Amino acid sequence: MCFQSDAGRGGPVKALVIRKRDFGESDLIVEFLCETGALHSGFAASAKRSRRRFPHQFFLPAIYNVEWTRSAQGGQLKRIASCELDQAFPKIADHIEDYARWASLLEWMARSHDELGQSLNYFEALCGVLHSSESNQFHTAYHRFLIEEMRRHGVNPDLKDCGSCHKAIHAESNFSVLEAKVFHTDCRPGWRLTLKARDFFCHVLSDESRIEDPPFLSTEDLQCLDATTLAFLTTQLGLELKSQNFLRQIAESSLPTARDQSASF
Ligand SMILES: [Zn+2]
Repeated sequence: MCFQSDAGRGGPVKALVIRKRDFGESDLIVEFLCETGALHSGFAASAKRSRRRFPHQFFLPAIYNVEWTRSAQGGQLKRIASCELDQAFPKIADHIEDYARWASLLEWMARSHDELGQSLNYFEALCGVLHSSESNQFHTAYHRFLIEEMRRHGVNPDLKDCGSCHKAIHAESNFSVLEAKVFHTDCRPGWRLTLKARDFFCHVLSDESRIEDPPFLSTEDLQCLDATTLAFLTTQLGLELKSQNFLRQIAESSLPTARDQSASF
């Protein structure tokens, strides 16, 4: 984790909670993504007992104002002086699937920072995903973030023509996570992609995605993306996430035809 000066500069900084872990019986070590893009860990003494100091218990889908104590006791781990809720996004926690999706974005962000050495500032992008829940667009914004990650990491799948017969595809297609290609449903098995799910995928991958509005996605379109975007990103970049198993089960339970074939594509 990189440590920049903003954790000791005084005054609160806006931050997201990336992960928290137990330390002894009642303490927590909490890792934050600060608005500057830096990742900082903080020591929250008696956090699990102190509902007065930390009533939010570092609820994940939320933005905080965090202050660290100035005196570090020899190490880099600073004590959290205060951590006040700036804004919570409880709609994300209303559905276990959405909560797991948010947790997977945080895990992805931390792991790609640690293991791929990415140094982009994700704070604004992740806040945008949180705010999308206020207009019930969280599920779409989640997939948009993942597809934008493919662009940022240069792992763009080829979604134009069939990877087998090389002809244009004008209907539903099958997507191969391993081959990074789409196929006619008659040409090759794969994860089902509706026409609109593929349009959305292409749209976000293209340079125009910030200018034009993306196509509106139905529940069925989103289920197709559930089975493909995170799996593709993590497979291509070689990072398996802890939160991924649960999300994979959700995706596969909504796509019964693909369930027994998932290992092959
Ligand atoms: Zn074909």
